[in-house]
Amino acid sequence: MVKNVKIGKTDLSVNPIGLGTNAVGGHNLYPNLDEEAGKELVRTALNNSINFLDTAFIYGPERSEELIGEVLKERGNRSEAVIATKGAHKFIGKDVVFDNSPAFLKKEVEASLKRLQTDYIDVYYIHFPDKDTPKDEAVGALKQLKDEGKIRAIGVSNFSIEQLKEANKDGYVDVYQGEYNLLQRDAEKELLPYTTEQNISFIPYFPLASGLLAGKYNKNMIFNDLRADLPYFQKEVFAQNLEKVEQVRKIADAKDTEVAHVVLAWYLTHNSVDVLIPGAKRADQVLNNLKTLDVHLTDEEIQEIDRIFR
Ligand code: NAP
Repeated sequence: MVKNVKIGKTDLSVNPIGLGTNAVGGHNLYPNLDEEAGKELVRTALNNSINFLDTAFIYGPERSEELIGEVLKERGNRSEAVIATKGAHKFIGKDVVFDNSPAFLKKEVEASLKRLQTDYIDVYYIHFPDKDTPKDEAVGALKQLKDEGKIRAIGVSNFSIEQLKEANKDGYVDVYQGEYNLLQRDAEKELLPYTTEQNISFIPYFPLASGLLAGKYNKNMIFNDLRADLPYFQKEVFAQNLEKVEQVRKIADAKDTEVAHVVLAWYLTHNSVDVLIPGAKRADQVLNNLKTLDVHLTDEEIQEIDRIFR
């Protein structure tokens, strides 16, 4: 029986292991995605107590939200899922800009509601900061939507610490989503201390460094998707990262578990990290990540993992 947790100061109750869905219909991120397989990832999650689904307008674009909407509709039980989505990308012809203006965000929330075939969104994030909109004004627009019952919690993503503080001037920010994993730890300097102090839930994205920290890659692998451009995968750095993963494997072996579960369990030891959103491309990965919940790390193991990646 999974023990659900509350996301920060919200009323949202979730399994600490959620599902990132940028590979569910995220055709612009991963080539050759099979949409039916993507829907099956969502069904597998919901059938196995994973209720927190993370999506965004830009995954597809639009298609990830649409596929999740189709699954929600076919199951006819909206309250079984806690849906987080994001907006800020504005297409001008083929060019994309970020827009955080209240009018744009309100329009985007309406469009996401339609694609998700629902009348409320559990967490709505401003996906990226724009240059011009004061961040408290942008969040003010989301507060209005929250008061109207269209969204249940307010999130911001990819904001700097200064932008987050401005966004949270009135204490309205519930969730922060930023890149954070054992290979990218910048958030530990200011963002994690601030979210802890403010009771804002910190949701790390790329928790498995796009698969590298799952412990299944070797140095001869070549990637032709979004990973081709990620710093963790560049030649020498990639080899060094794989060596660090081997050190975690020793800890995982001693605990009779896998690298991915040790890595995911390590994030959950942080105060403001309530829930994780590892992505998956196959249903067995969705199920496999649930084993994280059986891992208990000792203080020594927590420090050892910290040391390997420091
Ligand atoms: P991730 O969670 O770091 O890595 C996911 C990848 O790891 C999977 O696609 C799979 O790749 C591999 N994997 C997962 N579980 C595994 C297991 N048990 N065993 C072996 N391999 C496993 O990366 P991500 O999916 O890109 O990021 C997570 C979520 O964060 C996204 O889905 C998205 O919802 C969100 N996100 C948000 C932002 C933002 O700007 N806010 C940006 C990026 C992502 P392979 O099968 O290819 O090995």
